Amino acid sequence: MQNTAAQESSIKESKTKGMRCLVKESLDKDGLSLKEDMAIPEVRSDEVRIKVLSTAVCGTDKSIYQSSKSEGIRLEMQRYLGDGGYQPIIVGHEFCGVIDAVGEGVGADRFPGVPDSLLVQPGDYVTAEMHLSCGHCTLCRTGNEHICTRVKVKGVHLDGCFAQYVCVPYKNVILLGKNGDQSIVPPRIGAMLDAFGNAVHTVYEADVRGKSVAILGAGPLGLMATFLCREFGAARIYLTEAADTERRFALGEQFGAEQCFDVLNGSQALYDAVEKNESMANGVDVVLEMSGSPTAYRDAFRIVRNGGTVLLLGITRKPLTDFDIANGVIWKGVTVKGIFGRKMFDTWETMLRLLQAPHLDLQSKLDQILASKTYKLDDYASAFEQLNNGAEMKLVFQP
Ligand SMILES: [Zn+2]
Ligand SMILES: [Zn+2]
Repeated sequence: MQNTAAQESSIKESKTKGMRCLVKESLDKDGLSLKEDMAIPEVRSDEVRIKVLSTAVCGTDKSIYQSSKSEGIRLEMQRYLGDGGYQPIIVGHEFCGVIDAVGEGVGADRFPGVPDSLLVQPGDYVTAEMHLSCGHCTLCRTGNEHICTRVKVKGVHLDGCFAQYVCVPYKNVILLGKNGDQSIVPPRIGAMLDAFGNAVHTVYEADVRGKSVAILGAGPLGLMATFLCREFGAARIYLTEAADTERRFALGEQFGAEQCFDVLNGSQALYDAVEKNESMANGVDVVLEMSGSPTAYRDAFRIVRNGGTVLLLGITRKPLTDFDIANGVIWKGVTVKGIFGRKMFDTWETMLRLLQAPHLDLQSKLDQILASKTYKLDDYASAFEQLNNGAEMKLVFQP
């Protein structure tokens, strides 16, 4: 049978309507799959659709990539599934882009006659909080949306942003620049604000002014926390790491860490330094755990002083089984706080102000944490290889 003109044009149209994206097909199998012709998502009434300019890979994505090795991420991705079992989703949750469509309900409840300069429009340059809270539970209604018990994360439970287009609820959109203005933050950096927000949220939960601070883990988040603690007036910063220490410590020292410790073969040197420098208090004032390593958890409660504060952001791959809570927390009177995501939306407001403060020069600091090469989604296998073998700490795709 011959193709009619109508058939031909519908074939063409279905091609232009497809998008490139990375999909997690099965939780039992490592890796991701590149799709070339996934349907571009339809924008729902309360959503905007964003054409992705740049999207960053984080530790969660690495765990999803290597799902056979992480029981935690497999359980998390199945949290909301019923009997139907796992359905493939598009991965990725850190990105920025340009609004391409706005749902008809967006802004419909504005006060008539009152101009709303915050309302986003097609062409605006944005990022988004990808933790979608339920909006109805007690936590959501008392300013604790970031720990909503029914939170769904795009790229973990729902389709994410390793794609050419992504839809997000309007209330989760963060405006970076009207009409595509990229002067506050270029797309390379705009893609990593979700991660930067983790570091900002963590550091804001402790008063570091004039304090001794230990940052455990010199990955992207630990390095971001280092320059934030320095800027916010920490008196002394210790930084630890167990992998790829040369490059990470060079950046850490540049960002303000006084002493860096390779803890691959034990933490005695760290303990000795803390004992020597902090002898009056017998420990550091504030510890930020940003590695997720079980040995770092041990170090945190060993080096914190009596009455000190430990903030926990790093997630261990398996539950800790031999944690000494009496010696580590109770008898020391330690304050412990878990940090999840970013405060909605205090952390975002803070981040935007910090990024606009020229003397902090955050753009160039964040840029140094990123791989200099920008990857295409087609190169995802080599990109994840670079991250898994430690050649790069963090990188971005340009879909
Ligand atoms: Zn992330
Ligand atoms: Zn809720």
